[in-house]
Order: sequence, then structure tokens, then C-alpha cells
Amino acid sequence: MISSCSTNPYRLSNKSYKKQVKSYQKTIGNTNAKPLQNGSNPEWISTVNFNLRKPNFVVIHHTAQNSLQQTLKTFTLTRTQVSAHYVISDDGTVVQMLNDYLRAWHGGNAIWGKNTDINSASIGIELDNNGSEPFSEAQINSLVALLSRLKKDYSIPSANFIAHSDIAPTRKSDPSAFFPWKNLAELGFGLWPDPQLEKAPDYFNIEQALRIIGYDTRNLSSAIRAFKLHYIQSEVDDIFNEKTINTIYSIYKKQ
Ligand SMILES: [Zn+2]
Repeated sequence: MISSCSTNPYRLSNKSYKKQVKSYQKTIGNTNAKPLQNGSNPEWISTVNFNLRKPNFVVIHHTAQNSLQQTLKTFTLTRTQVSAHYVISDDGTVVQMLNDYLRAWHGGNAIWGKNTDINSASIGIELDNNGSEPFSEAQINSLVALLSRLKKDYSIPSANFIAHSDIAPTRKSDPSAFFPWKNLAELGFGLWPDPQLEKAPDYFNIEQALRIIGYDTRNLSSAIRAFKLHYIQSEVDDIFNEKTINTIYSIYKKQ
């Protein structure tokens, strides 16, 4: 449908992708050691024990656009400077746009724990959704099939399936509160609080706990809102009532 006909609108971006990959092959194949800043030239002796670095996180987004075609266009124009490995349309069609081993530009300025380069460590998945509508069953089914494959291929821990809003709480709020995190957690993608919340102890420090979970807490109210968007989808705000505190405690204990 999208590929391999003479009027393929993505002919140029396909060509450009191949050219770029070729230039990376050259970079990887280069066996000249890089000079150091003090002017000395290290010696190169090849090891024989190595393989490719692999992704260890999956970041889920919604496109906030009105159609799959619009998103594909955005990701095939250099001026936009954004991309993702996969885009899943409303009808469940999965489009892969980049090899899993390469770095997509989907996270932007983002932090998770001590990791300040999430794009280097993650797969980005965009769900075709305008941000104010439920996600279709077909789309979630395709997502689950894709996540299962990624989890198995790269041994990605359950806790490392996260939202764009988790890693960029001051800037992003995708995927929206319609996203079925609870169902996904039951299938092994992401964490979910215990059904019976234990009361957090008096000494429990919310800010520290959110930081240990992974959130950038320099703006604490944004971090709380991002946490609630993921784990308490019925009250997406920055109020930390008892339920919020106990839910944070529940997720914190799973770290
Ligand atoms: Zn996003």
C-alpha cells in the first residue's frame, strides 16, 4: 500500500535512508584510533569479541496528529528533526521507519533516572492518535504484538516500558490518560500499583521516591502530574493526596 510502486511518495526518503546507513557502515568499519586531546595517537588492535549495542527501553507516544499519513510525512522531512522507530495507525497497521539498532529522535530533551540520552537507549513507538480520543482495540493489539517481540529480542525489563511524559514531565503529556497502562502492565509491559495500596510510612519521601522510580523531580509538580497521568489516570493533576502518596509508595517498592 505504502511501498514499492513507481509513484511511492517515500522514494526519496527511502533512498536517503540507504545512503545514510552506508555512511555509518564506513564510520563503524574505520579502524583508525581517535587521537586524544593531548595530541597523542592511541594504537588500534582489534578485539574479536563484540556485537551491536541494543535498546533497553521502549518509549510510547501519541502523535497528536490527525492521520498516519500526516505522521509519516513529518518523519520523512529533514526540517522536522523528529522520528520514531515505529508508527501504529488507528486500524492497527504497523509502519517501521528505522532499524531497531539505530537512534531515532523521539524523546527530545529527556531524563530517566541517571540516563540523560534516552534516544540512544530506546525504541520509540508513536500511536496515531490526536490526544483526545481513546486508542482503538486494533491499535493496542498491534502494539502488544510489537512490544512482545521487542521485549523478547532485547530482554527489556518490564519497568522499562515508559511514556514520553515520564521522561519529559515539564514538556510532554503523551500518551494521554486514555492509554491502557493497566492492561499493558498485566501483560508485562510497565509497572502497576498493587490493587490494595499499603499506607506509606510517615518518613516516606515522595520526591526521593519519584527520583528513584526515574522521574526528573527538579519540577516536582510536573513529576507528580506525569506520575498520575501514568498510574492514576482518573485524576491527572499535581495534588499529592493520600492515594497519590500510597500509589507512589507502591511503585517505589517495585524498584
Ligand atoms: Zn511524544
